[in-house]
Amino acid sequence: MEEKKQKLVIDKTKCIGCGFCCYNAAPNNFTFGETTAEVKDPTVTEEAKVAIEGCPVGAISIEEE
Ligand code: SF4
Repeated sequence: MEEKKQKLVIDKTKCIGCGFCCYNAAPNNFTFGETTAEVKDPTVTEEAKVAIEGCPVGAISIEEE
């Protein structure tokens, strides 16, 4: 049976650029772009889950490919 791949996605229309995900929670997963965070490594890690929980606007989600 094939496993579904999961990946991190940032909704840039929601991100307010607080920097929590890239500078505090999961710097291996997220990096800061010009005005919003960007996904650096889409692997769903424990740190990434902390970022998802802590994002003040709920801009980070997990998508199945
Ligand atoms: S925690 Fe959320 S609002 Fe803050 S930079 Fe990351 S995606 Fe943007």
